[in-house]
Amino acid sequence: MSGAAAGLAVAAVLPPAAGGPSSVAETFIWAGVCAGAALLPDIDLPQSTIARTFGPISHVAAHGINKASAMFYNVTASGRDGHRSNGHRTLTHTVLFAFGLGIVISSLVTAFAKPAIIATLFVTLGLAIRGLAGDWARKHGPIMTTAVTGLLSTLAWTSIPPATGSTSLGLAITTGCLVHYLGDAITKDGVPLLAPLVPINGRRWHAINPPALVCIRANGLVEKIAILPALTLTTVALAAAALPTTHTG
Ligand SMILES: [Zn+2]
Repeated sequence: MSGAAAGLAVAAVLPPAAGGPSSVAETFIWAGVCAGAALLPDIDLPQSTIARTFGPISHVAAHGINKASAMFYNVTASGRDGHRSNGHRTLTHTVLFAFGLGIVISSLVTAFAKPAIIATLFVTLGLAIRGLAGDWARKHGPIMTTAVTGLLSTLAWTSIPPATGSTSLGLAITTGCLVHYLGDAITKDGVPLLAPLVPINGRRWHAINPPALVCIRANGLVEKIAILPALTLTTVALAAAALPTTHTG
């Protein structure tokens, strides 16, 4: 939900020349991609929602990414970081990953256009459905969810104006990843945001977390009765605001 809210908020202020959406349809696609991308960093955790999204394919991918991330961590870690065999909350939880993935997606869209756009929409909108309508997805099973994702991706693709800049999808993905880090940082043990580029206290993988005052417990009361309703209201308000103020291309 935070990815959807952030996607709508950023889409509202970002000019099309800088990769922002240029129509109402594109604004909602942008927010959907952002909402899906907000789940993406946990592809390094085989037990996560995202690892279950595309059945055995995403599960095997999650195992591989967990191991590859641990390897990347061990290669780049300083002596004070220590060794790790579990790569969760390492490489895919860094600013380097958020911007790197955004640049990769934008480059793929520039190089391959249609197939790259459809593949990006299929994966991120599939994740967005799991994240925003998890109960519905569980009830109807993976085949139905995949069919709806395919339909949504096709509809979304036909709604994107041909002139859409290649930076747009990449930027929505970067925004979603950054929102994920923020959520992890206030609910868990911090995120190694600047790793491995900027060493902090002699450690390349120093986890950054905000002051204890702003930290909340994951799935706790504050999240359920305050944060989720507030984010839902914000998303609905921003979605409503996107309708009359944005001009269709
Ligand atoms: Zn995470």
